[in-house]
Formats: sequence, C-alpha cells, structure tokens
Amino acid sequence: MVITLDQNKRKTPYYIFYADEFIQNYYELQHAFCSIYSKFQIAYSFKTNYTPAVCELVKSLGGFAEVVSDMEYTLAKKIGYPDNRIIYNGPGKGKFLESCVLEHGLLHIDNSMDINRVVALARQYTDKEFSVGIRANFDIENGLHSRFGLDVENGEFGRALKRIQSVGNIKVNGLHFHISRARGKIAWSKRIEKLMDIADTYFDYPLDYIDIGSGMFGHLEPELKEQFGDPPSYKDYAEIVAGKMEEHYNGLPESQKPILVVEPGTTVVSKYFRLYTTVLDIKEIRSKFFGLLDSGIHNVGEICVLKKVPVKNLGSGKNGREYKAIDLVGYTCLEQDVIFPNYQGKLAVGDILEIQNVGGYSIVDKPPFIHPDIPIYMKKNEKIECIKREQTFDDIFAPYFFGVIETAGGKGYE
Ligand SMILES: *Cc1c(COP(=O)(O)O)cnc(C)c1O
Repeated sequence: MVITLDQNKRKTPYYIFYADEFIQNYYELQHAFCSIYSKFQIAYSFKTNYTPAVCELVKSLGGFAEVVSDMEYTLAKKIGYPDNRIIYNGPGKGKFLESCVLEHGLLHIDNSMDINRVVALARQYTDKEFSVGIRANFDIENGLHSRFGLDVENGEFGRALKRIQSVGNIKVNGLHFHISRARGKIAWSKRIEKLMDIADTYFDYPLDYIDIGSGMFGHLEPELKEQFGDPPSYKDYAEIVAGKMEEHYNGLPESQKPILVVEPGTTVVSKYFRLYTTVLDIKEIRSKFFGLLDSGIHNVGEICVLKKVPVKNLGSGKNGREYKAIDLVGYTCLEQDVIFPNYQGKLAVGDILEIQNVGGYSIVDKPPFIHPDIPIYMKKNEKIECIKREQTFDDIFAPYFFGVIETAGGKGYE
C-alpha cells in the first residue's frame, strides 16, 4: 500500500529513498557503457536492498532482476519481471531452479548440484531445448579465495561444460563472473580479459551474454570518497570493460556480439537511501562522551563498520554544545553498536541527524533485534510517500507459538 503522508508528521527514525537521484544515476551508468558498447544490460542485485519500490523502479527503467533465492525470485515475479529478465544466481537455489530453466529464465550454474538438476530436467523433457549460463571462478589476485562458481584452473569448469553439452538439448549460452573486494581498475581489467579468454577457449559459438557481476564504486559523498582513495568512475569502468569488449568483438555482426551484463547492488542503491534519527540523550562517562540515537547499527548497515558514514546534523533549533569527540551510539544494548566513533561537531539532545549512504545491506539485514524495523519513505517528483510502513509487534511474533508451556505452579519471590 502506498499512502501519502505529510512530511512534518513523520517521527524518527525513518529512511528516505531519493528516487529521482537513483534514476539519474542509473541512466548515467547505462550511458557510460552503452556509448562504448551498445549491447549492454543492467541487472539489479535484489539481495542488496529488495525494497519492492526500488525493484519496481529498476523494472520500469528496463533493468533485469538478479536474484539468489526462491524468495527473491518470487518477489521479481510478483513485481512483474518476466522470467527471461530474471538472472538466478547463487549457491542456494530452491525449487524454482527447474521452473526458471523451463520458462527461459537466466540460470547461472554454480556447482555440481545445479548441474545434476539441470541435466535431469533436460533428460525429462527431451523434446525441449534449454539454455543456461555458468559461473566461472578464477583468481584475479585480489587476495580473496572466492568459493563461488566453477574453478577454471583445476578443470572443473571444463568438465562441467562437457557434461552439460553431452546431454544434447542444453546449450550454455552465458558466462558469468562476480567477486567482491575488487573494485579497482586493474581488477576489472583482469576480469574482462579472462572472461573473453574463456569465451574464446571453451566455446566454438558466440555466447548470448557475458555477465561481469558487480563490485563497482558508484557516486560517493566527498567524505566517503576520501576514505576510499581515488575510486574509479562509471566512465572508467566502462572504458575498460566495454572498451575491451568493443575491441574484441568488433569483427562480429551486431546480432552475434554477446550482451554485456553488469549486476550492481550497493553500487547503484547505497547513496540514495538516507536514515533520519534523533539524538535521545548525551552522557559523559570517565571523560568520554556518548550520544544515544533512536536507531541502531543494523539500521545503518555494514558501511558504518567498514568506514565512517557521512553524518549531517539537521539540528533542532537548540544551540548544541561543540564536541571534539563523541561516539554516536545505537539503542541496542550492544557495546559495539557505535554508528559513528569520535564524531566532531555541535550536538544537542533532540537534534535530527541525517546518516547518508545507507541503502546497502541495511533494510535487508536488519534483524528483529530489540526494536521492530522502521519505515521507508520515497521522495519522487517533489512528493514524499510511504513505501514501507513501520514494523509491528505482530509482524515479528506471528510465526511463534504462544501458550506452549503449561503452568507448573512455580512461584517467584513474593
Ligand atoms: C552481491 C552481488 C552483486 C552486487 O554487487 P555490488 O558490489 O553490491 O554492486 C552482484 N552480483 C552477485 C553475484 C552478487 O553476489
């Protein structure tokens, strides 16, 4: 349900999703790649932030859905993505694996369990033709020993291809690679070179698509950009990846060139969610200051553990005291619930803080820990509407059974 609310009636904590900026950024990413290599497709990584309004927006912009579970697949279908615009990735596919393949979804084989199921399906439907993608695993020397996909070096990848192709009515038409902790230009150059090398070595026909995953930097606030050094821009990634693709497939007719797919998650969503939270209390303990907020570390997501998140004090009309260092802490009773250590600036009880860049792994990663989750509003065309209501007691306790313990007549202290 989407209801329109008066902006002044909102009480913290809550998120705002800035849809217009999200759209502009999406088009910028698309343009950077398309202007060099026109067969380009964005598939949005649902796991990063599956807020339906965001997934609907991506669909309206022409994006595909990249999902890693039956739950996410169901969401994509509910939103109206046709199967041939859904990429089914990941090591833990559920019973939708078969329907994905039958309905021409883009299934990416990750392990032998996936192979066995696809092979069994093809043997069951000998009158049908199937196609699947496959995820390759190779080292790009970023220090991460990834466990996803099939190892090219030890022959696992090649054996998997032979096994699939031996069935006759399955074609491997897509090649996929994704790795985290490798957002630099050199890592991206290695990925695309290796992928095209695999495409040339293992396939004697042109692939329908090459999916290079994600792990790009998106636009960042200056405070974050500084902490990441000098992150590449969309244009930098496009010049490397789309540039090399264009050069490599230049000789092929347009219809035979593989589509280049990217799967951004945090890359396109993090910057466009902001958290609004109030300072509830300020205390001093043995010369150290703590500012207690009405939100917690889980509302902010992994970014506040990795980096110092950009925080802006929107004030409250009160003249706050100037702090040289105050820890901004959450409500959770966990000592490690520090959203921003050693914050420097003016702060008063009642101030509203805007915490930026919180769209990745916050909404989807918030456990029902201590407090129910908070609402999300969307700002679009100067209008603000609610896209997720506040979670209730009943939302959280509905799956549990009550009244399972019979009274044994125990008495506490009286
Ligand atoms: C998590 C994930 C993504 C999203 O990557 P970002 O770096 O968040 O943009 C894309 N593809 C796969 C396979 C993933 O697991």
